[in-house]
Amino acid sequence: MAEQKLALKFLTLKDFDIKNKKVLVRVDFNVPLDEDLNVTNDKRIKESLSTINYLLEQGAKQVILMSHLGRPDGRIVEKYRLTSVCKHLEKVLYQKVTMAEDCVDIKLPEPKNSKVVLLENLRFHPEEEKNDEAFAKKLASYADIYVNDGFGVSHRAHASVHAITKFLPSCAGFLVEKELTVMGKAMSDPDKPFVAILGGAKVSDKIKLIDNLLARCDKILIGGAMAYTFYRAQGFSTGTSKVDEDGIGVANQLLQKTEKSGKIILPIDNVVADKFSENANTKTVVIKDIGSGWMGMDIGPLTINKYKEILKTAKTVLWNGPLGVFEMKKFSRGTEEIAKYLAQMTLKGVTTIIGGGDSAAAVEKFGLASKFTHVSTGGGASLEFFEGKELPGIKALENNCSKSIKKKKLKKQEKKEILLKRKKKN
Ligand code: AMP
Repeated sequence: MAEQKLALKFLTLKDFDIKNKKVLVRVDFNVPLDEDLNVTNDKRIKESLSTINYLLEQGAKQVILMSHLGRPDGRIVEKYRLTSVCKHLEKVLYQKVTMAEDCVDIKLPEPKNSKVVLLENLRFHPEEEKNDEAFAKKLASYADIYVNDGFGVSHRAHASVHAITKFLPSCAGFLVEKELTVMGKAMSDPDKPFVAILGGAKVSDKIKLIDNLLARCDKILIGGAMAYTFYRAQGFSTGTSKVDEDGIGVANQLLQKTEKSGKIILPIDNVVADKFSENANTKTVVIKDIGSGWMGMDIGPLTINKYKEILKTAKTVLWNGPLGVFEMKKFSRGTEEIAKYLAQMTLKGVTTIIGGGDSAAAVEKFGLASKFTHVSTGGGASLEFFEGKELPGIKALENNCSKSIKKKKLKKQEKKEILLKRKKKN
């Protein structure tokens, strides 16, 4: 598997002179809204503030923000308008933000009246997800510089993330830079021991992740429903636990592959329930006693202690996927206790990375989100990054960077040749 290099191969905000420039920023404002369309979790909005504020401080002529929201599938869906996101942004930015009526084919307000503009939902147009160049060109026409600060969409080859880099000098915003720096170090040059904690529902969704981590980690601690697929691969019966039938074969291969190294560690006890409900009857049992009619919902206390013991000496910890059904209080203990333990480890200087998605939602729920080295804003994007895949949005920035470096080199070369010719003449 190719080494993931730590060195960033794209330009960043500080490589540009921002003064008097119109800057187009792809942000990820795909935030949850309640029935009244109020933003219920503004982490992604807040994470974009350092880039927006920096651009304003540097004297950008206009900052034009663009994002998607939900899955409108290429048509206008009222509940996915960015109007309430815009209002929320105004509150946290302490600055007027003008909501544009669409994202393309509009005239933007004059910069002197509107320093910050938010374009309407990109995914109201099917061209966005088709990575359509003409659409990207229209977006690019608003600005002098393009900034990708939407890490959560960087695994998508969409027009506002990918094709757009063909039309403007492009760079990464502070959020994208931070995500890639912290996670890149973990994958290329982690402080050891490096322990991964993997939970969640399906093994088959995470095969590539496990494979990539096996090459880099000292131990992988398994939890969540994924554990039951591994138990089945070992020949245990797992009652009515959620098992990924398609993943049993792969789990078996992974166990065989790591038999000698002992890198994969499975839970030794489980909290089981007689139904998938907060009102279920529960008991704590070891694997062989799960019994028919019972489903595993959380790791048990012996496992929590065992995992803490293994984590104790770690210098880098990466966590992807909850260790139980954390959404229900009764089955959230394993996830919460390990989250609290990692928060303490962070205070002692251990690098702790939460890989976005459900794990990020879990630490948020426990009020611990600020206690780790890094909580990724991109569930899918961080998963693909940890799988060792190339993220199209980042690749596009790299291509744009090498093009601009090439251009500079060519210009230098031309200058040299002109000077040489002049010298010869003289
Ligand atoms: P994933 O998207 O694969 O990370 O899966 C996250 C989901 O797995 C969460 O909604 C958890 O509630 C769920 N989950 C974790 N542990 C279990 C379990 N033991 N049984 C069923 N679902 C689980």
